[in-house]
Amino acid sequence: MAGPFRGGSDAADHADIRAAVRDLCRRFPPEYFRRLDETHAYPEAFVDALTKAGWLAALIPEEYGGAGMTLTEASVILEEINRSGANSGVCHGQMYNMGTLVRHGSEEQKRAYLPKIASGELRLQSMGVTEPTAGTDTTAIKTTAIRKDDCYVIRGQKVWISRVQHSDLMILLARTTPRADVAKKSDGLSLLLVDLRTAIGHGMTIRPIPNMVHHETHELFFDDLEIPAGNLIGQEGKGFRYILDGLNAERALIAAECIGDGDWFIDAVTKYASSRVVFGRPIGQNQGVQFPIAKAYVNVRAADLMRYRACALFDAHAPCGAEANMALLLASTASWEAANACLQFHGGFGFAAEYDVERKFRETRLYQVAPISTNLILSYVAEHVLGLPRSF
Ligand SMILES: Cc1cc2nc3c(=O)[nH]c(=O)nc-3n(C[C@H](O)[C@H](O)[C@H](O)COP(=O)(O)OP(=O)(O)OC[C@H]3O[C@@H](n4cnc5c(N)ncnc54)[C@H](O)[C@@H]3O)c2cc1C
Repeated sequence: MAGPFRGGSDAADHADIRAAVRDLCRRFPPEYFRRLDETHAYPEAFVDALTKAGWLAALIPEEYGGAGMTLTEASVILEEINRSGANSGVCHGQMYNMGTLVRHGSEEQKRAYLPKIASGELRLQSMGVTEPTAGTDTTAIKTTAIRKDDCYVIRGQKVWISRVQHSDLMILLARTTPRADVAKKSDGLSLLLVDLRTAIGHGMTIRPIPNMVHHETHELFFDDLEIPAGNLIGQEGKGFRYILDGLNAERALIAAECIGDGDWFIDAVTKYASSRVVFGRPIGQNQGVQFPIAKAYVNVRAADLMRYRACALFDAHAPCGAEANMALLLASTASWEAANACLQFHGGFGFAAEYDVERKFRETRLYQVAPISTNLILSYVAEHVLGLPRSF
C-alpha cells in the first residue's frame, strides 16, 4: 500500500496544500458535521474558516487579492476537504463560479467584486441555471432578461439553486433573445450578476427544497426583478458559451471531491474490516470482503488520473470538455462503488449516524445526478468524442 494519501504521483506534488487543508479540517471533527446534518444547518464556522484561510479564493488571480492557484491545486483543496469527512458541496460554488467572472467579467466588475470575494467580505456561492421545465436541456430555459433603460427586468423561475441563503451574489443565466429569433439555440442567452442582498424580497423570492443530503438549495421565483445593465457579464447573448468553461471546471473539481470521498470510504472500511472479528477472524480476511474494496480502490485511482488530466488541460487553456466529463463520470461511479463497499462491510453499523458512513453515502450519491447526470455525460462522449449521430 502506498503512503498516507495513497494517490498517484501528483498527490505528493501537492503535499503542502494537502497538509494545510487537513490541519484546518481537523478543527471540525465528524461530530460537528453530524450535528449539522441532524439539524439541517449550514456549516457557517467551517466555511468562514476556509474563507479566512484563503482556500475559497484559490482561483482568484493574485492581482485581485486571491491565491492565483491552478485548477489542479484548487481540486486538491476540495479533494482534501471531502477526504477529511467534510463535504465541499457547502462551498465549492465559490471556486467555479469565480472562474466565470475572472474569465469573462469586465475589468470594472473584477475590480469591484473579486478583492471583496477574496477577503471574504462578499460570497459568490450561487449559480442559477436549472429550471423546472427545461431540466438538462439548458437552451430551453424560459427565464427572460428584458432590457429596459439602464436595467434588465427578470421574469421566470429556477430550481435547485444552491447556497443562496449563504451567498451575497449569484450568477444567473437568462434568455435575452427568444429562442425563435436566434440562428443557434445556444445564442441569445446571457449571464447576469445578481446581488442577492437587494434582490430577495424585491422581485425575487426563494423557497427552500428539503432534500436527502440537507444541501441548502432552493426554488427561485423572479417577478420583474430589476438588475442594473452593468451587471451583464461579457457580451449579451453569449452567456451559454461562458458557462461551458465554468461547467468544465465544476466537473473536474467535483471529480476531485469524489476522489476524496472514495478514499474516505476505503480508509473507513479498511480500518473496520481489519478490526471487526466475526467467526473468529477479522472480516477483512475473507476475500469476499477484500475484493469489492480492492476493486473500488483500483477504480478510484484510475479516476484520479483522469481528474489530473482534465485539470491540466484546463490550466493550459486547452479544450477539456471530454476529459472533465469523463473524470466526473469515473470519479462519481468509483466513489459510489467505494460507498457501497463501505456501507456493506460495516454491516448494521453502516446505518448508524455515529459512523458517518450513511451521511457520506448520501452525499456522494448526488454526483451521479448533479451537476450533470451520468447519462448526459455518456451522450456527450458518444456524440462529441465518438462522432455518433446526435440524439437530441
Ligand atoms: C442537491 C442539488 C443541488 C443542485 N444545485 C444546483 C445549482 O446550484 N444550480 C443549478 O443551476 N442547478 C443545480 N442543480 C440541478 C442539477 O444540475 C440538475 O438536477 C441536473 O443537471 C439534472 O437535471 P434535472 O434534475 O432537470 O434532470 P432531467 O433533465 O429531468 O433528467 C432526469 C434524468 O433523465 C435522464 N435523461 C434526461 N435526458 C436524457 C437523455 N437525452 N438521454 C438519456 N437520459 C436522459 C438522466 O438520467 C437524468 O438523470 C442541483 C441539483 C441537486 C439535486
